[in-house]
Amino acid sequence: MAVPKKKKSRSRIGARRSHDHVSVPAIVSCPSCGEPKVAHQVCPNCGKYAGRMVIESEEEE
Ligand SMILES: [Zn+2]
Repeated sequence: MAVPKKKKSRSRIGARRSHDHVSVPAIVSCPSCGEPKVAHQVCPNCGKYAGRMVIESEEEE
């Protein structure tokens, strides 16, 4: 088994862990219905994406 030669310093551990964060999903308001939705995804409220009907829903504009 490979064994590390040197002990990792606290600063090196911190430098590695500086990237260990989760990013919050970008929330934008839908341009069609104005409801908040996840950016770059189909709006769950009106079913539209980029002005185009993607999901058939009971609610039409
Ligand atoms: Zn919408």
